[in-house]
Amino acid sequence: MTKRAFEELLFWTKYLADRELVVGSEGNLSIRCSEGFFITPSGKTKDTLTKKDLAFLTWSGEVVFGNPSSEWGLHLKIYQKNPEARAIVHTHPLYVLLLDALGFNFREFSHPEGAILLNKLSRAPFFPPGSLKLWEFASNLCVNNCIVVLAKHGVVAWGKSLEEAINLTLILEKLSKLEYLLRIEPNRR
Ligand code: 13P
Ligand code: ZN
Repeated sequence: MTKRAFEELLFWTKYLADRELVVGSEGNLSIRCSEGFFITPSGKTKDTLTKKDLAFLTWSGEVVFGNPSSEWGLHLKIYQKNPEARAIVHTHPLYVLLLDALGFNFREFSHPEGAILLNKLSRAPFFPPGSLKLWEFASNLCVNNCIVVLAKHGVVAWGKSLEEAINLTLILEKLSKLEYLLRIEPNRR
C-alpha cells in the first residue's frame, strides 16, 4: 500500500531526526497535496511527531489546522514558484555550517562526487530565520537550484519526493564532512 502524504512526512521526519540532520526542534519538512501542503509544527522535537502535530496550509497561506513551522512562508513560496517541487526539507547540518563559517565555496568540493551538486546548489546570504527576506531570497534561488545553503543557518532542499530532497541534503552533508576532515587532517600528522 502506498503511504499517504502525512504518513510520508512523519516517516521522513523521523528518518532525518534519527540521523541528527535535525536536532531537537530544528528544521522543518513539508509535502505537497492538491489543496495545499502538510508541514511540521513549530518548536516541537522532530523524532516524536504524530499526525495530530502536523499543520496544513492552503495555497493562499491560510492555516487549515495545526501550528505550522515558523518557515511556512519559505515552503509556500518555493511551491508557488516551482511547480515541480513536491517536497521540501530544511535542516541545520553540522558540517555544512562548519564549512560555511570557514568561508568555503560550496561549488569547489575537492571530491569528484561534488559534481552531483554543482548545477543544483546555491548559497543565500544571512537573513533572520522566519523572515520575509529569507523566504523571498531563498525561494528565488530555488527556481534554478534544488538545494540552497542558508548562510549561518542551514540548508533548504526540494525534490519530487521527500526522499529526493533528503538524499541531496545527506550528500551535501557527507561531502562537507569529508571536506572539513581533509582540512584538519594535515594538522594531525
Ligand atoms: P520551526 O520549529 O518553527 O520549524 O523552526 C525551526 C527552524 O529551523 C527555523 O529556521
Ligand atoms: Zn532553520
